[in-house]
Amino acid sequence: MPIELLVIHGISLPPGEFGGGGIDALFTNSLDPREHPYYELIAGHLVSAHCLIRREGAVVQYVSFKHRAWHAGASSFNGRSTCNDFSIGIELEGTDEIPYTLAQYKALSKLIRLLQDAYPLISKERIVGHSDIAPGRKTDPGPSFDWQSLKTELNKLSIE
Ligand SMILES: [Zn+2]
Repeated sequence: MPIELLVIHGISLPPGEFGGGGIDALFTNSLDPREHPYYELIAGHLVSAHCLIRREGAVVQYVSFKHRAWHAGASSFNGRSTCNDFSIGIELEGTDEIPYTLAQYKALSKLIRLLQDAYPLISKERIVGHSDIAPGRKTDPGPSFDWQSLKTELNKLSIE
């Protein structure tokens, strides 16, 4: 199916902690439930995202853009459900409360421009938060995600 949506997420594992290997483990189905009480709750969840952007701006890719990732869950965009079928999911390491870093906005903007080159249907109206396509169920990337900062960084890059 053509890719026509980009979904921005926020995640931290354990919740509120940054820099560990928990996110890598979750998205590669190798989370050890003994490592943290919270991991016991989520260890069986088969989820993935195409990319993660760490706090310092490093981009990690888990799933090829040619393949479906399991990031959106029950979701709907413009009346169309099952967003995993037609979207790319980008996770930012963060929480709903702690501001994301400038390095993350810069890396995300570069990634978005590259993806828009490859998948021109991802217009600026089709860059959304997980909370936009799963309202009431998901809150990420949260109020801490500054859409204006993303816009500012995107505007610094040439392709529109
Ligand atoms: Zn999410």
